[in-house]
Amino acid sequence: MKNYIVYKCTSCGTEFIVPRMYVDYSNNYVSCPMHGKHNKIIVIGAYYKLRDCMESRAYKRNEHGAIEQIKNSKP
Ligand SMILES: [Zn+2]
Repeated sequence: MKNYIVYKCTSCGTEFIVPRMYVDYSNNYVSCPMHGKHNKIIVIGAYYKLRDCMESRAYKRNEHGAIEQIKNSKP
């Protein structure tokens, strides 16, 4: 189970991480943390650990902006 979900608001470009335990799937609605009325949110990543997420994000800044899972062999 990947416990950290990385979201991006397509309205303002804000990227934010939400622990899966806080995602209300019954509601199926995630709002922008910067502008609560933004509701065009996409999932750009999912990670087992918050640290992995940070490391991966940092690493990917050197790429061409492509989003891809590079640490899929970790437990
Ligand atoms: Zn936004």
